[in-house]
Amino acid sequence: NSLYNIDGWGLPYFSVNSSGNVTVRPHGNQTMAHQEIDLLKVVKKVSDSKCNGGLNLHLPVIIRFPDVLKNRLECLQTAFNYAVKSLSYSSYYQGVYPVKCNQDRFLVEDIVKFGSGFGFGLEAGSKPELLLAMSCLCKGSAESLLICNGFKDIEYVSLALIARKLSMNSVIVLEQEEELDKVIDVSVKLGVRPVVGVRAKLRTKHSGHFGSTSGEKGKFGLTTTQIVRVVRKLEQCGMLDCLQLLHFHIGSQIPSTALLADGVGEAAQIYCELVRLGASMKVIDIGGGLGIDYDGSKSADSDVSVGYSLEEYALAVVQAVKFVCDRNSVKHPVICSESGRALVSHHSVLIFEAVSSSKYTVPTMSSFDVQRFVEQLPEDAHSDYNNLSQSAVRGDYEACLAYADKLKQRCVEKFKDGSLDIEQLAATDGLCDFVAKEIGASDPISTYHVNLSVFTSVPDFWGIEQLFPIVPIHRLDECPTRRGILSDLTCDSDGKIDKFIGGESSLPLHELEGENGTKYYLGMFLGGAYEEALGGVHNLFGGPSVVRVSQSDGPFGFAVTSAVPGPSCSDVLRSMQHEPEIMFQTLKHRIEEYVHDDGNMDGAMIADGIAQSFHNTPYLTVGSSCCLTAAN
Ligand code: PLP
Repeated sequence: NSLYNIDGWGLPYFSVNSSGNVTVRPHGNQTMAHQEIDLLKVVKKVSDSKCNGGLNLHLPVIIRFPDVLKNRLECLQTAFNYAVKSLSYSSYYQGVYPVKCNQDRFLVEDIVKFGSGFGFGLEAGSKPELLLAMSCLCKGSAESLLICNGFKDIEYVSLALIARKLSMNSVIVLEQEEELDKVIDVSVKLGVRPVVGVRAKLRTKHSGHFGSTSGEKGKFGLTTTQIVRVVRKLEQCGMLDCLQLLHFHIGSQIPSTALLADGVGEAAQIYCELVRLGASMKVIDIGGGLGIDYDGSKSADSDVSVGYSLEEYALAVVQAVKFVCDRNSVKHPVICSESGRALVSHHSVLIFEAVSSSKYTVPTMSSFDVQRFVEQLPEDAHSDYNNLSQSAVRGDYEACLAYADKLKQRCVEKFKDGSLDIEQLAATDGLCDFVAKEIGASDPISTYHVNLSVFTSVPDFWGIEQLFPIVPIHRLDECPTRRGILSDLTCDSDGKIDKFIGGESSLPLHELEGENGTKYYLGMFLGGAYEEALGGVHNLFGGPSVVRVSQSDGPFGFAVTSAVPGPSCSDVLRSMQHEPEIMFQTLKHRIEEYVHDDGNMDGAMIADGIAQSFHNTPYLTVGSSCCLTAAN
């Protein structure tokens, strides 16, 4: 547990039980040990065959815990309620969930359901996101905000205004000055009075990895000059009362409350100025940026951690808004936040299997082997070998390694010009590795091959080197004896994970052959935000299977409430415009031609096997039989 710092990044949701398995406490209640779910039992239930009582789903699998989501939402709301009360703030907090973080239908529906008691809303950044937010909010509370961010065309603006006509609380946030003309035109045409917000480009700049959104040169938002022009134009059209919200977003993973308070304070001052200019301001929307502690270090100096708690975040926000509004004698606004990462990261765990590991086994060499090797060496390599053995006798290990390297290079050259055969080259490599091992300089890091695509399931590691906690989900009562990196299934050298939380370049791992030859499962935690939407289909590996798990009173303490297998080979082929049905018919035709010529071939079995391959998972199916070999 302490080896992987699970208490640091995982509490109150993740812990380790007395069997050495990772457990989940979906309600975040640390004192209720009987309410914990053993992850290994969930994986067994999900992946076991139907005849063993399992669901027969293939790994990798995402296990969602809707109760964790509910707890995160309630904690966020409680933190702001507490800050509002303790600071005598005279308005309230009303959040929205930015659907870009994870657009999964059931997740968004859950957020609307869990948040309807406190008017929690949604934020959309594109037309499909707006359509999904509109349809989900039909079932939510009428006060819930529907924040319409992102670049907008006439169609986007029309949809947002129709939402208002349908009694949804939509706010069109201007990201660009030109959007105002569209809003004015369409609202007149549809006869809908819009509620408008402006996104301000703040001067406060977040210097971390996620801070490129902020500052005067940030990609989004209006400069102060543009905001003033928007106010004038709305005034001229008799629509200044429509301007009711000020939005900003200084970037994800805001590292400290000092930076947060600085940004919120600047925005609150703009808010007060808009009030002074005559707008009917009601809401300050502080965007996203509430960070989470991926490595458990609680540090403000790292992209994978933050130096504050949820409660400290809420207090800093409320205090900064209150201070500026009081100074300007402005009525306290409703505070809205668009926290995505902090809301959904914890709710899912990605489970995958390590299928093999490669640790180079250094050949043992007897003095007889060495003598034979030396006899076969080309004449000019003898001096390298002599230097190598003399430095070994002297105990000069640095020189020893240097001569081993020289010997190796010379032999490679000889191999390239054809004067050394492949066995001699292999013997040279073996001798050099033997020397490195004897003097303690060999590489102790193993490569664990995992049944996963980094590009599909951990795209932020590949794209921006974002680190996530990765931990074996069992055998944690056993001391790991190896260190390894994880190499995925794709034919791409970037498809590996070789950096881990805590700045480590390898992970402590167990020998693969566990007791009774059991499988070795790893979990990637805190990946519920962004990873699913960003993942691609490199090498045509599709997304993982997905299950939803809730606590139950049954014998296992949990129930799988929905199970969706990951895409099949046909599904991923279809996503690139291939037509699996036609592909199969073409192959079947070819089989029939060959069966005609080769009387021993069982065409029907081969065709069945190929049909099955189209339906199967693109991931490795370790240990299961294959219809194609049966056909041979
Ligand atoms: N709001 C806006 C406008 C964003 O661009 C983002 C993410 O980049 C968010 C909210 C969500 O941010 P986070 O996930 O850091 O809470």
